[in-house]
Amino acid sequence: SPVNALTNGHTSAASERLQIINDEKKFTPDLSAQIERWGLRDAGFGYNLVAVFGSQSTGKSTLLNRLFGTTFDVMDETQRQQTTKGIWMCRGKGMNIMVMDVEGTDGRERGEDQDFERKSALFSLASSEVLIINLWEHQVGLYQGANMGLLKTVFEVNLGLFGKNVNNGRTLLLFVIRDHIGQTPLANLQATLTADLNRIWESLSKPTELQDRKLSDYFDLSFTALPHKILSADKFESEVLNLRTRFANPEAPDFLFKPEYHKRIPADGVAFYMENIWEQVQSNKDLDLPTQQELLAQFRCDEISTVALAEFNEQAKSQRRPVEAGRVVDGLGEMMRNWRTDALTRYDRDASRYHQGVYKRKRADLLAALDSVLSPLFLGQLKNLHKTCLVAFKKEMLDGLHGEGYNFADVVSAARDRCLGRFETGAKEACVEGTDWSWEDEMVLLKEEVALVADQCRKDETKKMVNLIERNFKKQISEPVDLALNKAAPDMWDNILRTFKETLDKAEASYLVKARSFNCTEEENSHAIATLRKRAWQALRGKIDEQTADSVILGKLRAHFEERFRYDEMGVPRVWKPEDDIDGAFKKAKDETLELIPRYSKIEPVDSSLAYTLPADSIADVSDSFGGEEYDFGASLTIFTETKALELTQKFRREADAYYVEAKRSTVASIAQ
Ligand code: GDP
Ligand code: MG
Repeated sequence: SPVNALTNGHTSAASERLQIINDEKKFTPDLSAQIERWGLRDAGFGYNLVAVFGSQSTGKSTLLNRLFGTTFDVMDETQRQQTTKGIWMCRGKGMNIMVMDVEGTDGRERGEDQDFERKSALFSLASSEVLIINLWEHQVGLYQGANMGLLKTVFEVNLGLFGKNVNNGRTLLLFVIRDHIGQTPLANLQATLTADLNRIWESLSKPTELQDRKLSDYFDLSFTALPHKILSADKFESEVLNLRTRFANPEAPDFLFKPEYHKRIPADGVAFYMENIWEQVQSNKDLDLPTQQELLAQFRCDEISTVALAEFNEQAKSQRRPVEAGRVVDGLGEMMRNWRTDALTRYDRDASRYHQGVYKRKRADLLAALDSVLSPLFLGQLKNLHKTCLVAFKKEMLDGLHGEGYNFADVVSAARDRCLGRFETGAKEACVEGTDWSWEDEMVLLKEEVALVADQCRKDETKKMVNLIERNFKKQISEPVDLALNKAAPDMWDNILRTFKETLDKAEASYLVKARSFNCTEEENSHAIATLRKRAWQALRGKIDEQTADSVILGKLRAHFEERFRYDEMGVPRVWKPEDDIDGAFKKAKDETLELIPRYSKIEPVDSSLAYTLPADSIADVSDSFGGEEYDFGASLTIFTETKALELTQKFRREADAYYVEAKRSTVASIAQ
């Protein structure tokens, strides 16, 4: 495990330490996870970062462990091992502080190359707020010593990093002078060190545009001394405690972590940022912090966005199936708005700490991704609403058109209003603020379909109504027509046509009354009326056909004949006597009856103007949309063709002859008596 086994008995994750850069100058892949284990991942800017620099075996690790309760390795006195190069990190115990123990920064003393020293200085300055410079009291004033070389490196590197932008990278250099005996007061040591630092600063070869910059433009300096750890153990402990307070307590008057030292890397981005910085440093590339910040922002904003989107997708998934199955999901809009707001809130909380340009760009991307997930749900909901509203409309129409006494137009407009109202309410609920979604187009489609359905209903209803009127018409003409045809008076057709005309006029009037509530068009009305006329005529013709079928008409003729031949003028049955003029009576009755055949043969009123009151054009021209074929009105006026009339005449003659023979026989019989 990259997380070292603990040596001091602590078992909680908070006290774990991590070698973030090993002696092969490799950066750990585990820092991000470790920061999380330390419980600092969500600290935002609410953490501090401090690093320690100094020669080997000057008690750096010891100091850090005392100050921050950390668990860095301390050199074992009895073994005096060579410490490896590298950077270790711990979390301060009970403090939101990341502490870096930079080992092996005294290559100069050991005659090694200063490569690592330079790199770790760059690395530390790019992230830390406070650099602790740890040195023995006796190292103070050794201008040529290892510490001075280290500081020269720090200054140079800092100029490269923050040279142009003074506001962006102020850092505190805290000098901790160890084994301070007390003979030389701290103030003197401080003066000596300050003078040395300024001399180093002056000696730096600065770019021309930074020529006038002073050390204090970039660094705050602070000095403290600690007594000998063994010789004045008590005083050492109490001084360490004092110093600890200055790190740990923001209320302390000389609190060390001033806000302006913060490098403004959100805690959840520290790992990525440090790794990138180290990579740049390692490959000796120019370290451009604004670019690094932007890279960090891109990486982190993407990550944060991905997490927010994943949670969001999980939520959205729950309603995808019902919507796809055609259900109108109750409160879908509310849910969608909540998911969307939640995702954005999550994103904003973490991502807004990063580079603003990047944060905003990625936010727009996220928003587009969220909306592209929601949009099909919205459209599906609209589609389903459309369908269910239309179904409800149809049902309501059918229910409303049940039975008698409804007003079609009222039923339609009530159902229509409810349908569109229901759609609009549902559609508005499904909308999400901040999108350009609209439901109006779908509403237009729905309106069109509602109109189509209403239209079809109207046509069906009209059809039903015409059928009903037709049935009534048939009932009304039945008896008068029967009567007239039986009587077969010379003005038989006048009576029949008059009845037809009157009954049809009534039927038309009753259609028009009802049609008003159907909002029928002029065209529809005239078509329905024409249909009605044609049906009426056909009904009349049907009635006539029924009454003039062979057996029926022969019956009528027979009855007519009998009435005249077998009964006298008083309606009394005749008993023929030999002196009676059977032949004359027979001829008269037969001729009068035969006259009826041409009367029945053609619909021909005596008053010929009556024929012109017939709606001949309607009857002939209308192609009946309710069913029916071309109709020859002229032909329909003929009941019997000539051939047919002849045939009937023949048949009737034969029957009449039989009556004659019977009459003759009856007289013979009466003589015989
Ligand atoms: P580092 O290499 O700078 O991290 O130093 P260490 O913390 O490992 O300490 C090196 C040695 O110095 C150890 O044996 C410590 O016990 C000892 N030491 C630590 N602090 C002090 C101190 O304040 N004064 C003296 N004289 N020795 C110390
Ligand atoms: Mg150490």
